[in-house]
Amino acid sequence: MSSSLARKSIKQNYSPPSLEVLSLMQEYRGMTNDAIRIGIANNNLSNLKKLSQLTYKELKHYKDIPSCYKLCAISKAAGILASRKKSIWRGYPTRDPYVKRPLLVSCYRFKIVNGKLRIPLAKRKYEFIPLNNHTLKILESDKTLNVRSFTLTQTSLSLCIAKQVPEISHDEIHSVIGIDRNLRNLSIGNRSLVTYYDMTKIVKIGENTKDIVESFKRNDVRIRRKIASKYGRRRKARIGTILNMISKDVVERALVTQSAIIFEDIRFIRSMYRKGNFQGRHFRHQMNNNWQYGEIKRQTEYKARWEGVPVIHLTKSETRGTSSNCYICGERLQSNRDRKRQLWCWKCGKWFDRDLVAIMNISHRGWVRFAQSHNVKGIGREAVVSEHERRDEPLIRIVDPMKLCQREKGKDLV
Ligand SMILES: [Zn+2]
Repeated sequence: MSSSLARKSIKQNYSPPSLEVLSLMQEYRGMTNDAIRIGIANNNLSNLKKLSQLTYKELKHYKDIPSCYKLCAISKAAGILASRKKSIWRGYPTRDPYVKRPLLVSCYRFKIVNGKLRIPLAKRKYEFIPLNNHTLKILESDKTLNVRSFTLTQTSLSLCIAKQVPEISHDEIHSVIGIDRNLRNLSIGNRSLVTYYDMTKIVKIGENTKDIVESFKRNDVRIRRKIASKYGRRRKARIGTILNMISKDVVERALVTQSAIIFEDIRFIRSMYRKGNFQGRHFRHQMNNNWQYGEIKRQTEYKARWEGVPVIHLTKSETRGTSSNCYICGERLQSNRDRKRQLWCWKCGKWFDRDLVAIMNISHRGWVRFAQSHNVKGIGREAVVSEHERRDEPLIRIVDPMKLCQREKGKDLV
């Protein structure tokens, strides 16, 4: 049975650090910024090995700090430089990066002793940071868990935890769950069952935040920015909670029904909603600010990996036409102004729900890909086609994500 390494992190609050820890954090920040500077000076170098060869000796004057932090600082800098490179490649305006806040990251020489995190300050000198109940509960829940690294900021402590997860073998996969990400709902499912998660609340939160920020009329860029970032954080937290409940439910459902999760490829779709595309301002704002398609994918992916649920990504060409072609006959569907979110197939002579069409196509293409690449026994290509030609309508459920947290675990699934 194959297994893969799954990672996630636990975050907890951390009381203001002692002066020694704070000075360590400041030094760490200095080292990272030095490494970034060297990387930029050397033709945007972001390769960890080359960067550490160049940088390690330059960091000689940081004498008080244990050497384990040096490597981590260089690795942090390499990460920052790599993401800068990516931004440049994607054409975003970038400034020279700079770590502003003090922090401390290390994957070496720390230990968890008696419910406390022990980190080195100097030779044979340690700082003990108490872990809270939530963190300890997670660490004790699974003996195979491995703490890979810690990140300390002035207010929080994060532990990166990892474990080997046995993947559900291909013979055990019985179906697929396609995921279609829309502005106002997330629809998941396959030919037998489709679930809509209502996400209008997320759009409302976005609109609300926009109204609040716009209502501040003081003409001062710095204060406006501060207020905007405060409400932006609030918005992110509120939306994050809802998305968390949805992604958790999706993965649980996939686990119970032994399904693989299918995502379509909609990267760069925001370029469809740029100025000059004959779309209204309001519509473009909705699609660019309130459509949370990346975050839901990120959350679902890491949760799926943690549970060993396989995730299949359709390619760009496999994604093409998923929301505009009929799932029964394959004909291109026609939209009508009066019938919102409905599409007409002249061959079948029927109106289809837009989200349903997308979900059917995505799950079918995902299943074809899965069956082909794993030579699923007894469910060869022919079987897939005949499954495709089945014309009965799937069962449809509508779920309010706000009620998901009240549901008992594992209950009311399938
Ligand atoms: Zn049709």
